[in-house]
Amino acid sequence: MARSARTPGKAAPAATPTHALPSYLDPAHLGPWGIYLQQVDRVTPYLGPLARWVETLKRPKRALIVDVPIELDNGTIAHFEGYRVQHNTSRGPGKGGVRFHQDVTLSEVMALSAWMSVKNAAVNVPYGGAKGGVRVDPRTLSRGELERMTRRYTSEIGIIIGPTKDIPAPDVNTNEKVMAWMMDTYSMNEGQTATGVVTGKPIALGGSLGRREATGRGVFTVGTEAAAQIGLKIEGARVAVQGFGNVGGIAARLFAEAGALVVAVQDHTGGIARDKGLDVPRLLEHVAQTGGVAGFKGSDTLKPGEFWGCKCDILIPAALEGQITRDNAGRIKARMVIEGANGPTTPEADDILQDKGVLVVPDVIANAGGVTVSYFEWVQDFSSFFWSEDEINQRLVRIMKEAFTGIWQVAQEHKVSLRTATFIVACRRILLARDLRGLYP
Ligand code: GLU
Repeated sequence: MARSARTPGKAAPAATPTHALPSYLDPAHLGPWGIYLQQVDRVTPYLGPLARWVETLKRPKRALIVDVPIELDNGTIAHFEGYRVQHNTSRGPGKGGVRFHQDVTLSEVMALSAWMSVKNAAVNVPYGGAKGGVRVDPRTLSRGELERMTRRYTSEIGIIIGPTKDIPAPDVNTNEKVMAWMMDTYSMNEGQTATGVVTGKPIALGGSLGRREATGRGVFTVGTEAAAQIGLKIEGARVAVQGFGNVGGIAARLFAEAGALVVAVQDHTGGIARDKGLDVPRLLEHVAQTGGVAGFKGSDTLKPGEFWGCKCDILIPAALEGQITRDNAGRIKARMVIEGANGPTTPEADDILQDKGVLVVPDVIANAGGVTVSYFEWVQDFSSFFWSEDEINQRLVRIMKEAFTGIWQVAQEHKVSLRTATFIVACRRILLARDLRGLYP
């Protein structure tokens, strides 16, 4: 109710406390950051004496907004807004991807940076959390424009990133090529080749074997562990995937190789289905050639909205955030949702799924495979000693399984969702580091 419309005679609202949150940090502010704050509130009762530090999690340590001007091919000047947010660095340097997307906002990048803090602590890699983004539709840029935009953005955030400070990586619409430009730009500015400034680089520039597939492999590993806990057999299980890029495409391939049927796939070009299971290797080729799943031979076309209600056991949202909402959560038939994307389920949808008995394996553990192999890449770059793909995959699987088992136990112990359990494990680790370090000065 607006202040001016307050009923006369009622007590005046308490004066705004001096420590009131700035509007963009307010939990009532709906958007990714507001969702993250609600998630933190849910774990606070489980933090014991560390709850004293919980406010640390509710404010990003540092948020940089940069102007990214470039000359377009037609000679005009375009300006894009870029961000790099370091949410927390108590456990180590900031770490997290960079996304190029027309809908990127500061609130989104803040939430994504916070989810990186949680994710990195959940798998216990020695990093804090960070994220970056540029508000641009990269499909509207030529290759030259994309390169200039990437380089200028990197140069602008160069004042806060670095191999021991904050290490970017690929995310939505960024890839090895973009990482190579970022590495080169940072290195040129520094006067020395600094391969460890970004991960997800091409192999020839200090990238790691297995990094490209790592997020999808992690989704599969954690999904398999979770399925075993609820007695769901992967062989013959029906899988639906939203997003068929680096995460969804690889996860679909691994599930299909393990005998699951990938029955429905949706991406920005449309939705397709095949009751007997899609031919995933051929679909991957089709997507590589045409840019999307639409028009895949031998598949049925799904009507808009039909995807969410499809008959499946495992649903993998692997596109953007805010996809499973109160409007479609009730229609989901899966027994398990594995969040390949960051933040795909809204809190209301989370509650609906929990009431229906659908197990949600949250992003902060399900998609942590990517940053885990990023960590391996960073370690390899520092030691200039490179590991075999088998070694990388084995270490990845071990870390993911151990992390999942610990989280599952916490969920059982406190009778909470896997998301809350992951936040409990991760926030305790972050705040323990905070507590041990103490405040400066
Ligand atoms: N962008 C990925 C994520 O959201 C990977 C981050 C990284 O490797 O630093 O987890």
